Amino acid sequence: MASRLFLRTCSLTLRARQNISMKVQPRVFASGRGIPTDDEQAAGLERRILQALKKGQDPYSIFKPKLYAGTKEDPHIVPGISNKRLVGCLCEEDNTAIVWFWLHEGNPQRCPSCGSHYKLIHHKLPH
Ligand SMILES: [Zn+2]
Repeated sequence: MASRLFLRTCSLTLRARQNISMKVQPRVFASGRGIPTDDEQAAGLERRILQALKKGQDPYSIFKPKLYAGTKEDPHIVPGISNKRLVGCLCEEDNTAIVWFWLHEGNPQRCPSCGSHYKLIHHKLPH
């Protein structure tokens, strides 16, 4: 399931980026009914994921995260299920130490070391 979902996600992302709509060839055998597609035979969690992907949602954070500038106007978005979350900031690319701090819901907060801004956004679990 994971590999099929990954391939579907990659193809949807590539199509969305290239703004190409591909026509799906019907799968027809001699019986006339054909082979069911992934959408038709998916059940349970896989079905919910496929439906969410069609709506452009990312319930399990499988898409590449958006890059943020880390400024006050464009803070790093940190999803959380409670009103605070422990965040680790690798302030510079070559640092070997991580600066850990608690991020609280509300206004963006700054990393105590480098000053990058982070903002906690409440994230509802998909299940
Ligand atoms: Zn930092």
